[in-house]
Amino acid sequence: MNITQNIQKIKTFIPENVTLVAVSKTKPNTAILEAYQTGQRIFGENKVQELTEKHESLPKDIEWHMIGHLQSNKVKYIAPFVSLIHGVDSFKLLKEINKRALQNERTINCLLQVHIAEEETKFGFDEKEIIELIDNTEFKAFKNIKIVGLMGMATYTNDDNQVRKEFKTLKNLFDNLKTLSTLQLTILSMGMSGDYQLAIEEGSTMIRVGSSIFGERN
Ligand SMILES: *Cc1c(COP(=O)(O)O)cnc(C)c1O
Repeated sequence: MNITQNIQKIKTFIPENVTLVAVSKTKPNTAILEAYQTGQRIFGENKVQELTEKHESLPKDIEWHMIGHLQSNKVKYIAPFVSLIHGVDSFKLLKEINKRALQNERTINCLLQVHIAEEETKFGFDEKEIIELIDNTEFKAFKNIKIVGLMGMATYTNDDNQVRKEFKTLKNLFDNLKTLSTLQLTILSMGMSGDYQLAIEEGSTMIRVGSSIFGERN
């Protein structure tokens, strides 16, 4: 199967209200352009340098999402163009994104990453930290970031029940925060190649799919 067919096939599984982010990390521009020809315009990368290089060399109507762990000292490179940052996992990072967005006279859309997996290696806030954060006065004064939703990664396991349970936890938090806070949360980013169908069943509105589109990475 080629990239075009893969995208068409995935599109048949996803409802209208779910956005597909094509995760193109490690893949060449030719692969991205093939996906682009099918009408795909949203691409996700997890390395700042790769994201910046691809942004420079590919069509300007692509919306670039930063999906991986982002270090504060690298925000400045993507601040001029990034359309959504998925993995915001610290106050320090939010502060830096706000600062760089201001310098670029723009507002940067962000998703707060929530730690839902069992693995300690995965990043993100827990529920209590998010509630503290949105109450924080300094946070409330950040004018150049917009928190538009939450992002989470489930445990890497074959146990569907475990994965489903973690997605449910994230969806509940998302629904609670929508009523609790003044944030306008519309995006729930959960689901990758191995678990996006489960994620959609549990309320995902944005899936991040790499290998099922572009093939396995080395
Ligand atoms: C690589 C990556 C994906 C896509 O993974 P696949 O299993 O190839 O679909 C999704 N989200 C994040 C944060 C990633 O780093």
